[in-house]
Amino acid sequence: MAILDILRFPDPRLRNKAKPVAQVDDAVRRLIDDMLETMYEAPGIGLAATQVNVAKRVVVIDLSEEKNQPLCLVNAQILEMDGVEQMEEGCLSVPGVYETVIRAQHIRLKALGRDGIPFEMEADDLLAVCIQHELDHLEGKLFVDYLSSLKRQRIRKKLEKENRQQEAPEAGAHQVI
Ligand code: ZN
Repeated sequence: MAILDILRFPDPRLRNKAKPVAQVDDAVRRLIDDMLETMYEAPGIGLAATQVNVAKRVVVIDLSEEKNQPLCLVNAQILEMDGVEQMEEGCLSVPGVYETVIRAQHIRLKALGRDGIPFEMEADDLLAVCIQHELDHLEGKLFVDYLSSLKRQRIRKKLEKENRQQEAPEAGAHQVI
């Protein structure tokens, strides 16, 4: 397994649209394993392939304290969404920034697992938010896109400066997706 480089906002490659995975083969499973290792090491609770510069519809998530309940979503599609959830979000590609985003509280989705087998699942609250956040990444969308352009500009300037100085702010007690 390998730790992959995580792209940082405003890197234009974060705007790439991911393509569906034709077949969950050994190469895709290796990508999943590397993404999990990268996410655990960061540490974060979710990571999309776009963030490691791979244009494939692959997402990994783990909300467990022990980091032993990985959820792998390949070619995930949201089938239903309802309710409203407001949560403060952070992102491994936008380090040190935490802002409230409004999303659906409940979602139902279908995806392929690490074994390539299709499944359907429902998710609420943090898991639902996390999945929506990661699936946005696959469309080239970031949580800062939900903020005002003034706020986004300010975040861009802050990160451009930090990226030049290669500083990474500590997440502290925040959970980062
Ligand atoms: Zn993110």
